[in-house]
Amino acid sequence: MPLKPPAILPAAVLFDMDGTLTEPLLDFPRIRADMGIGPGSILAALADMSGPARLAAEAILHRHEDEAAGRSTLNPGCRELLETLSSRGILVGCITLNSRESARTVFQRHGLPIEVIITREDAPPKPSPEPLCGACRRLGVAEADTWMVGDGQFDIEAGAAAGIRTIWLSHGKQRAFHAVPWREVRDLWELDQIFKGIE
Ligand SMILES: [Mg+2]
Repeated sequence: MPLKPPAILPAAVLFDMDGTLTEPLLDFPRIRADMGIGPGSILAALADMSGPARLAAEAILHRHEDEAAGRSTLNPGCRELLETLSSRGILVGCITLNSRESARTVFQRHGLPIEVIITREDAPPKPSPEPLCGACRRLGVAEADTWMVGDGQFDIEAGAAAGIRTIWLSHGKQRAFHAVPWREVRDLWELDQIFKGIE
């Protein structure tokens, strides 16, 4: 479904980081192999560990995240989209499962204007609505006036649970999960055009 310009601009837009603002950063199968864990959530596997094994696994995850953040690349259209939002007075937040350190590295590396960054140290992870609601509180905006943009299932589920309109970034792929986004765009250029089209 093409995204028709809505009549009203949001007060804020929240973005996922990995795969949304940036090109995919993390090689999850490689991280799981290095950590010695099977398929599934890396953070859940970490939470089930304890003692030295957990510390060692955490160190492996941080090393991967830091290396990936240091060579991160923005998705096409990212900078232009953020400039459009800024010029329209729309606040920007980022909700990521990545570590605070790696998120900071990414945003400093690219000089991106992000008002609020919520990482896994700050709140329960998506698909919990808490990190999104926390970002809205810190930005001083209502969930009903906010959009969440992400390329993953958890982004859409978290937005729906928070009462936030969701935009799924498809990268031209078919959606392989059940949660239904409010709208769908192929890339950040398309989203930029939407904002440019709203008066
Ligand atoms: Mg993502």
